[in-house]
Amino acid sequence: MKKVKTIKIDVDLCNGCRACEVACSAFHAEPKYSSTNPEKSNIRVLFDVKRNLYIPVMAGEYTDAECMGRDQYIIDGTEYDECTFCRASCPARDVFKDPDSGLPLKCDMCEEEPPLEEPLCVKWCITDALTYVEREEEEEEEEKLDDVEIGLEALANKHGMKKITDTLARLSMSKKGEYV
Ligand code: SF4
Ligand code: SF4
Repeated sequence: MKKVKTIKIDVDLCNGCRACEVACSAFHAEPKYSSTNPEKSNIRVLFDVKRNLYIPVMAGEYTDAECMGRDQYIIDGTEYDECTFCRASCPARDVFKDPDSGLPLKCDMCEEEPPLEEPLCVKWCITDALTYVEREEEEEEEEKLDDVEIGLEALANKHGMKKITDTLARLSMSKKGEYV
């Protein structure tokens, strides 16, 4: 079984205080708790002026390329910019990049040893807009190799990968009648 850590976000309870941003940046400062800077936080609170709505978003995976397609959200008639709710640090925008180093930011669930009872942003969210939930999930079985893969792996172990790829290339050309 593997442990899955989740933070549930109840947008209706968020009052936009941004304590989560402050706590996250302090926890990840070098040295720890030496400074605060919401720009360095792994959580950002987006503000929708029209609806007086605050939407906390946590930094997800880094991507080195922009999406080829974008999603556009319309919620209760309000159209949001593409990328508004995206968690990725990507070249298309500045959010979730460290303002000093430019390195991507990513939520690490405040991992440390010994583990915290709950992540800092959850702890400092006094309205309970953020709730920490832990659950256990079955680990997926390791993908089984099929017969061809098992055979190739054995041959690669015995003769080396280069010999195998050279032989396959030669066989393939021979099949096409191009090999002399
Ligand atoms: S600490 Fe909680 S209420 Fe305050 S901005 Fe963050 S999520 Fe919203
Ligand atoms: S879980 Fe930790 S690292 Fe992730 S956003 Fe909250 S405070 Fe930051």
